[in-house]
Amino acid sequence: RNYTKDEILRFAEEANVRYVRLQFTDLLGVIKNVEIPVDQLGKALDNKIMFDGSSIEGFVRIEESDMYLVPDLATWLVFPWGHELGKVARLICDIHLPDGSPFPGDPRGVLKRVLQQSKDLGFDAFNVGPEPEFFLFKLDSEGKPTTEVNDEGGYFDWAPLDLGENCRRDITLTLESMGFEIEASHHEVAPGQHEIDFQYADALETADNIATFRLVVKTIARQYGLHATFMPKPVYGINGSGMHCHMSLFRNGGNAFYAAEDEMGLSETARHFLAGILQHAKGFTAVTNPLVNSYKRLVPGFEAPCYVAWSLKNRSPLVRIPAARGLSTRIEVRSPDPSANPYLAIAAMLASGLDGIQNGTPLADPTNRNIYIMTAEEKAEAGIHSLPENLGDAINELSRDEVVRTALGDHVFHHFVEAKRLEWDIYRTQISKWESDQYLSLY
Ligand code: GLN
Ligand code: MG
Ligand code: MG
Ligand code: MG
Repeated sequence: RNYTKDEILRFAEEANVRYVRLQFTDLLGVIKNVEIPVDQLGKALDNKIMFDGSSIEGFVRIEESDMYLVPDLATWLVFPWGHELGKVARLICDIHLPDGSPFPGDPRGVLKRVLQQSKDLGFDAFNVGPEPEFFLFKLDSEGKPTTEVNDEGGYFDWAPLDLGENCRRDITLTLESMGFEIEASHHEVAPGQHEIDFQYADALETADNIATFRLVVKTIARQYGLHATFMPKPVYGINGSGMHCHMSLFRNGGNAFYAAEDEMGLSETARHFLAGILQHAKGFTAVTNPLVNSYKRLVPGFEAPCYVAWSLKNRSPLVRIPAARGLSTRIEVRSPDPSANPYLAIAAMLASGLDGIQNGTPLADPTNRNIYIMTAEEKAEAGIHSLPENLGDAINELSRDEVVRTALGDHVFHHFVEAKRLEWDIYRTQISKWESDQYLSLY
């Protein structure tokens, strides 16, 4: 709910808040904040807090660096930790230029802009429910993260195998105390890997929640002497961490993806949205899977998608349609990983789906077979393409996709591609241990 300035000031006083963190996200999805003492809160609520945007990754050049933080009053939240020095609260902010206009490089602003397009098309909500996965690793004697797991658990295992359980439970309790509705939390397939699912919400709130979620998971893990990582594929040879996204469009309070009379229970809107997702999947992959490391997850054999296809049952394709119908009708996109900037990832997927709706893009037949065991000819015949295999290819696909480019806007597109190309170029010229081990003596 949207609070007034006076309400926020009163909440701060009642809760004995001493500091307020003005939170936003940089282009690469890293949470940033400016902390102000509570006596500056009035000024912040008048949108008068300025910062230097030139030092933020992917923002702007030095000569145009003055920016304003504009708090979204609906995001007021008091953190449940740090009581000794008085409590700390936060407000998530939009970023504006000195002339008052939204800064085009603000990821949250990008999502707001694409959401407005869905409103213009008559939808009142774009609901997104994420399934973020992460690993809990031990710290070494210097407090640095290792890739040593602290349990030998597997999918849905019980304690005592699952020693991360207490930590995970503490994470869910903390999230609940912050207003998250936790739907499920469980041990994932790999040792040390966990998943916590929280309730879907309209896209902007979900993106805010994902950003906050990562912060909470990392903070609580530290209290248990563990390091939580959302790195997509931290360990060779076992499952990586994904962030499946369930999505649906609502119109007039009803689910616009549901059609009772259809044999699959899916509306034309759902079909076209899905067709748009499939059409632009290669283009948005750089955004939903932004790291060099993301592409080490998107390989056969580890429950992560590699092919652009959809299914009602099978979990190997990019998109699965969960069985629930009625208000819960939704599509599950399985490629995104939790290192993505949540605002940009959701904006890119929404724009892709909306493009399908606007163009009435026809939906290909579902693939109810295991694509991993189909031959190249069978895949070609069924029109099944592969997702980009590395960050370099993904950047090229993004550059060719007008719809995803337009959704990001020129500023974000150029800065994102520039940063990612550099990352890819540095990576691809490295000589890895695997290469030396393979080649040094033999050749
Ligand atoms: N960890 C898998 C992935 O990378 C998903 C596993 C699951 O949730 N079934 O997407
Ligand atoms: Mg799950
Ligand atoms: Mg999972
Ligand atoms: Mg899932």
